[in-house]
Amino acid sequence: MKREYTIALAGNPNSGKTTVFNALTGARQKVGNWPGVTVERKEGKAKLKDMEVTVVDLPGIYSLTANSIDERIARDFLLKERPSLVAVVLDASNLERNLYLPLQLMELGVSRLVLICNMMDQARTEGLEIDTEGLSRALGVPIVPTVANKGVGIERLRNVLAVEVVREKGLSSCPLRYGESVEEAINELEEAIKKHKTLSQRYPLRWLALKLLEGDQEYLARLEEGNPTGGEIRAHLTMLRDKLEGEIRYDLETALVEKRYGSMRQH
Ligand code: GDP
Ligand code: MG
Repeated sequence: MKREYTIALAGNPNSGKTTVFNALTGARQKVGNWPGVTVERKEGKAKLKDMEVTVVDLPGIYSLTANSIDERIARDFLLKERPSLVAVVLDASNLERNLYLPLQLMELGVSRLVLICNMMDQARTEGLEIDTEGLSRALGVPIVPTVANKGVGIERLRNVLAVEVVREKGLSSCPLRYGESVEEAINELEEAIKKHKTLSQRYPLRWLALKLLEGDQEYLARLEEGNPTGGEIRAHLTMLRDKLEGEIRYDLETALVEKRYGSMRQH
């Protein structure tokens, strides 16, 4: 039996997601709503070489912190539906900020990722030179430059997606390390979270540990959901957060976010 492949299209608002979605799927689209909310959900079929794959246009988001309904929709879709590949549309004229999302996707454990460096015309107009090949090597992820509203790069994108969506082996590991003391805290938390069956079966451990350290309200609330180890993990977490904030002399969430931006600035 032939496998069915799904590609989730993610990206910041106004990066050109819908333009790429239209270029890939043409008129073969279905428009509805995400379950339980009035946020539009678009799905279409794209022909990639001899394959037909489903493409889902996720709401425009900046991160996966689930602070907004759009972020929650995107995050839940990625974690529950496990698409075969996530393609992230980046605004090349605002690359640094746009790279935050793919970095979070790597942390979430998304195994197949393709970056679409869109608005290359805009970047050029602004005098920005983007070394997409160098960036691709540094991140270990394919990057396709496009000018989606002119159809530039779309053929190449189809070819790259066709290869990547069926690739057996995905990304090997998350490229970002947070420094010794934070990594130690992540390890300790991972050990503690392992005992929390409902959470640990549903999410990657490193992702959970990081989100809890950041103080993500949604996961904090879930700690106690019908699980006896929740209180214990929360106490452990509070201890670790206090210790780290004492060392960093800084709010931990800000420090982690800064670290991610810092790692992108190097490219
Ligand atoms: P979305 O919010 O990510 O879905 O973005 P849209 O696809 O709606 O695109 C936002 C605007 O950017 C639209 O006016 C598009 O026509 C335009 N656009 C899309 N791709 C490009 C591009 O590569 N270059 C330029 N200059 N404009 C683009
Ligand atoms: Mg759109």
